[in-house]
Formats: sequence, C-alpha cells, structure tokens
Amino acid sequence: MVRIVLTTDRTLMSEYRHIPLGDFAGCAPPNRFPRALFDFIAPQLPASNGLAIRAPYGLRKLEAALLKGFPEEEVVVAHPDYVEEFIGSDTKIVGVNTMDPLGLGPVSKLFTWGGPGYYSYTMLGFYTIIRRIQRVRERRGLKFKLVVGGTGAWQFENREEVARRLNIDHVVIGEVDHIAPQLFEQIESDNLPELIKIRSYPKPEEIVPIVRPSLHALVEVMRGCGRNCQFCEATMRIARYIPLETIKKELDVNTAHGLTNAWIQSDDIFLYDVQDKRTFMPNRDSLINLFKTIMSHKGIRHSNPTHGSIAPAAADPLMMKKLSEILRAGPNSYIGIQPGIETGSIRLIKKYMSQKVKPFQPEEWWDVVLEGTKVFNENYWFPAYTLVLGLPEEEEEDIWDTVRLIAYLEEKLPKLIGEKAHFVVTPLSFVPVGMLRGKEFYNPKGFSEAEFCLLYRCWRHSLLEVQRLSINFFRMHPAFRAVFYPILRLGLYAAIDRLRAWGKSMGYDPEKPLRIRHN
Ligand code: SF4
Repeated sequence: MVRIVLTTDRTLMSEYRHIPLGDFAGCAPPNRFPRALFDFIAPQLPASNGLAIRAPYGLRKLEAALLKGFPEEEVVVAHPDYVEEFIGSDTKIVGVNTMDPLGLGPVSKLFTWGGPGYYSYTMLGFYTIIRRIQRVRERRGLKFKLVVGGTGAWQFENREEVARRLNIDHVVIGEVDHIAPQLFEQIESDNLPELIKIRSYPKPEEIVPIVRPSLHALVEVMRGCGRNCQFCEATMRIARYIPLETIKKELDVNTAHGLTNAWIQSDDIFLYDVQDKRTFMPNRDSLINLFKTIMSHKGIRHSNPTHGSIAPAAADPLMMKKLSEILRAGPNSYIGIQPGIETGSIRLIKKYMSQKVKPFQPEEWWDVVLEGTKVFNENYWFPAYTLVLGLPEEEEEDIWDTVRLIAYLEEKLPKLIGEKAHFVVTPLSFVPVGMLRGKEFYNPKGFSEAEFCLLYRCWRHSLLEVQRLSINFFRMHPAFRAVFYPILRLGLYAAIDRLRAWGKSMGYDPEKPLRIRHN
C-alpha cells in the first residue's frame, strides 16, 4: 500500500476518441445525454497494474513535484477504476484532481441550463470517486486524509459545506509545483485549514517536468496571461514562460511512450515570450523558435496549441503563415485552436476586456474577429470560438450584438475566402472567477429571445460546420469512424430541426432575418 495515492474521476481519464471538442461531453447532463452514448464517446484509457498509463497533465505535474521530496515507491497515480487497490494502512493522503467537481464550470453551467435537477457527468464522476474512496476509508477503518485539488478546486471556495458533507479533509487552491512535498507533509501532520489557498507562485525554473506521459500528450509552455479580461482566472496569475529545456524533457517523456502528438498548453499562445506588453504584439521570433523546437523533436509528428486569442492573428499574418509551415498545416491537417470571441458588444468589450483586442482598439472588435478568422483559415487553422453569456450588467441588446457578430462572420467570411471559411462557436455561461469573483453566477430561469437566438445560431453554425468536415477529421478507429460518421451527419440535421421547433414553441423565430449593424 502506498503513502500518497493520486487519482482523478473517470471523465478526466479519457481522450474522447480524439473527437474535436469531444472532451466537453463530460459537461453534458446524464438526464439528457444517455449514459451509453457517453460511455461510447469517452472510453477509459487503459491501466497497467492499476496505474494510469496516461494521466491529466495537472496530476502528472503534482506527481513530478512530489517526487522531489518523496521516494518513488511512496507516490502513485492510480487509474480511478483501481484506486482501492493502492489504499491501505500506510496511506496518508489520497489526492483527487478535479476540473469541475460541482458542475459549476462555464460549459457545464450552459449544458445544464434551465433543467431542474440537471447536473453534469463531471460532477457525477467526482461524487462517484469521492464516495468510493470514502467507502474504503470507512470499511477498512483507515485514517488517511482526502485532499482535493486541481483547476476546478475554486468551486469549493464558497461551498465549504459541500466539502464537509463529502468528508473531504482539505481543498487546495492554487499552484503547488514549488511547495508540494512540504505541503503534503504539513497536511499529513494536521497543521492546515480545510481550505488551503496557495498565494505564492512557482518561478519557471521551479516548475518540474513531468516524469510519466500526459493525457493528450499535453505539454505546458506558459502559465498565466496578461490581458486582464476580468471574468478570467488565468489573468490573476503572473505570466511565466516554461524554459525550453523543461519542454524538451516533457516531449521526451511522451515520445518515449510512442506518443507522436504534442498538445501545447498555454492560456494564450500568442503571448509566449511577448516583449511589448503595451501593445501585446506577438513575439514572432520566439514563437517560431518554440514550434521549431517542438516539431523537430525526435518522435513528434504533429502539434497544436490549445488556446490563443484572435487579435494576434489579425495583427501578424506573416507569423501565422510561418507557424503553419512549421506545424505542417494543410487542407488535410488543420490546426485546432480555442480563442474567445466572448461578446459582440463593444460596450462590454470596453467594460471587461479591452486588452483582448490589442494591438487594436475595442471599437475595431468586429473587424478584428473577421480578419483574425480569415488569417486563421487561410493558413489552415480551425478556430473553436467561445462566447461568454451573462456577464454582470449584460443587457438584451448586448446579446443581440453578439448574435449579429456571428451572423456578420457567417456572411462575410465565405465571401472573402470561399470554401476555406471554417469556425465553430460555443456560448458559455459566465461564472464569477477572476476579478469578477463574488458576482452572481449566470442562472436564468428560462431563455429570452436574444439568448435563445444566440444559442440557436451558434449551435446551427457549429452543426453545419461539422457536416462539412471531411471524414478524415475524426481521428478514431476506422471501423468506429465508418459507423459514427454517417450517424453523426444524419443526427445533426435532426438536431437543428429540434432546436428550431423548440424556439418556435417558446414563441421565437430563431431564423428571423437580422439587420447586421456594424458597430
Ligand atoms: S485573453 Fe484569454 S486567457 Fe487571457 S485573460 Fe483574456 S480570457 Fe483569460
């Protein structure tokens, strides 16, 4: 039995068949999204002797940091299906990594919107693993501490009673790379409060490279942002750039296990090593050097960044062209990226996120979005945009502005670049984090016409976009793909029809023509 057992829930132990945006399936509610379908989309990664072969990146980081202070035999990352096998009388701490324990993340809040008693698979998965660990503790009469951490730990900040009800001993919020062994020793010896907030940050050289493979072969190249969008947690962290040596070590770990892909984690990749923090002009040379280093690494065949904003694409098309060449982007090999459009309302852009538009001005936002999308697409990048619905003081007209911006993109983009025009867009619910911590969650009882039209138009656009995708876009087993792809195409039209009928049943006309007023 092991002194420190780390694990996670089942929704975080799947690569969702590499379906684009498939990881969001965990945010769906079981009472709307059948269990059998979820299990098909989210098969569990295999285990080896009960250990996770690949694990969420945050868990791998914690494991690596703990191994600086504890011997190898005292720390394991257990696959959630086998966690009981590692817990015994020698166990002092069981740590559970979570991204969305209470279903309060922006995607879960949106997917469970409006339904009484709706909750997400992520919440179900978290409760399930916690209860299983509790049962082991009770039945075997053990005394280990149950500790929860990870990017979703903030959800307990104002819900400490939930942590108590679940018999969680400690919730850790913040980065622990630089203090993990000391922190765990203190937790073992009972010296800390239930809610542990880590206020210090590791310096880049204190961030230890992972020692075992990560889910999706994820590798982090920077932490934090500096654009100061007020609704975003990333902006609360100081921007730091991970040394290239650390990045290369992590690539080695993943490629040694046969992983040829590298997902590059950052909050905004185009801020990597940015020098001009007044205009946020991307540092083209550093970005080129970074991706050259990654793509020339032995064993790496494909790479794509996870997040990046739109304005840098509009500001430096040459950089995008060069990055695309390095990343070997092409008609059969698009680079996926998740940027935030957030809103079409210039009023809200000015109020909450004016630096997102830099080096441009807030008033230019619509053109920045159009031009940035055009540059992405021309260079074979496929943006999966997100919006934020329900910002404090958002008015109906702000939402209509966002509807109009999406319609503007749909109208103008194909005229500029024809068949190359591609994007999907997903509205997310506002959650009060970052500088807006303490504000109300967005929790409407029903849909206003603007809200419904926004959801309808986003989903319609995204579903039609999926219809246009080549079968090769879905990186899954050919037999599954042969079955999955036609069903998906048929299902999409049915889904659009149902959405439209739903809107009409509420007295709305989701297809009504819009006067696109350019801000
Ligand atoms: S640009 Fe993105 S990551 Fe940076 S503060 Fe804004 S929302 Fe957060």
